[in-house]
Amino acid sequence: MAEYDVIVAGGGIAGSSTALALARVGQRVLVCEAGLPTEKRLAGELLHPPAVADLEALGVLDDLLEEGVPTYGFAVIEGPKDRGTLLSYSEIPGARASGLAIEHAVLTRRMLARAAEHPNITVLTPARVSDPRQSQNGTTVRVKQGTQTHDVEAPLLVSAEGRASKLRRWHDIVAEPTASYRMIGWKIPHARLPHPGYGHVFLGGSKTALAYQMSATEVRVMFELDEDGGLEVPRDVIESLPRPFREDVLAAMAREKGQVAKVIDMKPTRAIAPNFAVVGDAGGCAHPLTASGIAYCVGDARRLACALTATGAELDGDRLDDALIAYEADRDECMRSRMVLAPALREALYPADDGMRLLRHGLMRYWNQSTRGRKSSLALLSTLDQSLGSMALQYASVSLHALDGVRAGVLPLQKVPQAFGQLARRNLGFLQHALRL
Ligand SMILES: Cc1cc2nc3c(=O)[nH]c(=O)nc-3n(C[C@H](O)[C@H](O)[C@H](O)COP(=O)(O)OP(=O)(O)OC[C@H]3O[C@@H](n4cnc5c(N)ncnc54)[C@H](O)[C@@H]3O)c2cc1C
Repeated sequence: MAEYDVIVAGGGIAGSSTALALARVGQRVLVCEAGLPTEKRLAGELLHPPAVADLEALGVLDDLLEEGVPTYGFAVIEGPKDRGTLLSYSEIPGARASGLAIEHAVLTRRMLARAAEHPNITVLTPARVSDPRQSQNGTTVRVKQGTQTHDVEAPLLVSAEGRASKLRRWHDIVAEPTASYRMIGWKIPHARLPHPGYGHVFLGGSKTALAYQMSATEVRVMFELDEDGGLEVPRDVIESLPRPFREDVLAAMAREKGQVAKVIDMKPTRAIAPNFAVVGDAGGCAHPLTASGIAYCVGDARRLACALTATGAELDGDRLDDALIAYEADRDECMRSRMVLAPALREALYPADDGMRLLRHGLMRYWNQSTRGRKSSLALLSTLDQSLGSMALQYASVSLHALDGVRAGVLPLQKVPQAFGQLARRNLGFLQHALRL
């Protein structure tokens, strides 16, 4: 009998939460982590309430609350003089009223340390997994620790390697990016955010601008850069920030270089293969505007543990195949919603043409005038509602509100017919994208 039931390659958020979720249902798990990121990595730090609930169920929340701060939703700020529109978790009936913000490196370190304390989990780090092959008891992989290399066998191999997963390729799973972006960020002590406790989305510039309190004393700000340009944040984006926050950002930019991260939209062709599953970013990722990557990481851990428990504790042959098929089916619709929502929201909030300008007017009107609108949108953004049908319904409501843009004079009248054409083409494009995924 193999020493482990599951080998998890990668000890980031997806790897640690998968190990914890599987260990809690009795599996013996080996986690190999090649080297956790330092404070220099710019990555996910805002956790929606469903992610917080999943972390609580895994028994790690108390630890994280010691380092992070609660968050209450999003503040959407339409320009330097706007007071902002608040989308609050508390408006969603029955939902947890707060999420969490915590520095990425602290989050990953704390979670892997908690996983290592579990009696069913062995953590090796730094240790890299490669060369998976079918063997008598499932899959055998090579584990490299320093100059030492040894083989380990288990019925199930889980790739939690992040978006560049190599093990995925060994199983002929194709993962082509459909879009790529670059983000640059700074950590600013005592920055004066308009709505501390909320994830801020600043509109009015040509590209994404986000900020949130990530500890009692520090604020994270991040901006999208041109894909092929330099590291300069576009001037119009800086000017869209309200004062005095803008001064705090400019001072941080003058003090130090920002941290840069590449981001892609990508959904692999499959999430499973024989004796193999992907979780977290290895199973797909999207633009950070919706701040949902971590919710997907811990959600995948929960979904995989549920699928394995539903088919019985023993990870063998047909039962394991059935569990993996159930896991893939369970995550597929959620992933499709995510892959449509993130780019659609980005295009609506940072419009590149008149059609999208009308849509943004519709979206802001929907949020400003309708409690149901705010509640339903935030349920989708926070992953509480992951149905494609709800998303289509929301999109239709926003498109109807966009018609008001004509009355409100968002565009000169002679531009309206062309804008409707652009809007119709984009709507069709999103529909085709959803069907292709
Ligand atoms: C700029 C930016 C902002 C973001 N903001 C948010 C946000 O606010 N909220 C949110 O929810 N999400 C956000 N995200 C997304 C979030 O960061 C990711 O979804 C999440 O970090 C993915 O975790 P993961 O464990 O799947 O992958 P990773 O964090 O990439 O971890 C993979 C781990 O696997 C290890 N590894 C890789 N290959 C091997 C191997 N062969 N053997 C052993 N170990 C291996 C690596 O060392 C790494 O530690 C953001 C992302 C970016 C880039």
